[in-house]
Amino acid sequence: MELQEIYREGFSAQHSKTKPKISFEVFPPKNGDISTLFEKVRLLKKYNPALISITYGANGGTKDLSFELIQSFIDLELNVMPHFTCVGSTRELVEHYITQIENLGIENILALRGDQVEEISNNDFKYANELVEFIHSKTTLSIGVAGYPEGHIESPDIKSDIENLKKKIDAGASAIFTQLFFDNDKFYSYVELLRNSGITLPVIPGIMPIRAVNQIEKMTQMARVTVPQKLLYQLEKFPDDTKKIGTEFAIHQCQDLIDNEVSGLHFFTLNHAGQVSEILDNIF
Ligand code: FAD
Repeated sequence: MELQEIYREGFSAQHSKTKPKISFEVFPPKNGDISTLFEKVRLLKKYNPALISITYGANGGTKDLSFELIQSFIDLELNVMPHFTCVGSTRELVEHYITQIENLGIENILALRGDQVEEISNNDFKYANELVEFIHSKTTLSIGVAGYPEGHIESPDIKSDIENLKKKIDAGASAIFTQLFFDNDKFYSYVELLRNSGITLPVIPGIMPIRAVNQIEKMTQMARVTVPQKLLYQLEKFPDDTKKIGTEFAIHQCQDLIDNEVSGLHFFTLNHAGQVSEILDNIF
């Protein structure tokens, strides 16, 4: 099922309350152990995910496309959305890749720039909007793109970041998947800014349950993410309870997003099933 069909349009109080669509992001295991990840995803299947997305070259992971992983999720009857980045991508490579995934029956792709920008100079695509345009011109794939509730780390301000987001939409994007955030007000303000800028696409909030303190340190170095003082205080005061605190925080965060009628919840699972299951068991 394509992104446009999965997510109802927009984010507005006028819409009747419906359950948000759940999706999970996983990454190809660095040790190549697909069977362990497969088992975890099999456990998550009971939450009836609308999508399972597979990162490409993120978290230091592989840039080799894991067709074995994609195929194993297809065999589980999951709707797979592979990611793809500008980094390391020539036109030929992208064309080859998208042909292969279309042949597998895949309908959606998440098109990104990637973070290893020093590698981009040799590439055919500098920014994600160029990749979106190319994929859109060659396929009927439905294309998701990234959005940043607190602005992308390289952007001077959120306004210019939204202008650049518009370029991805004009190039053919169908849905916006956000960077993780911990302060829902940042997300709500962002959506309002997007709507005021004439962007009507579904905006799917990205949720990363905290499992370890170093995860926060890493994320706040890589991305513009505000960690609420109260959460920081709890994590510092009870270092042995990080996962429990992270789970409870995510439950409240998701509950608030649901109350505000988001169209989806996209979980950055970090390839773990237990914590996300606990969150979902508590919110539905
Ligand atoms: P772009 O949209 O190209 O934006 C990058 C920066 O350039 C922004 O500051 C933007 O404002 C600016 N910009 C954009 N277009 C232009 C333009 N035409 N002219 C001038 N400036 C411009 N990374 C991976 O490597 N693999 C993954 O699988 C992956 N998955 C992700 C999933 C999600 C949901 C998210 C939110 C991020 C993911 N990332 C992944 C990280 C992503 O690659 C980085 O955040 C990257 O720094 C930016 O990617 P982008 O697609 O948003 O880039």
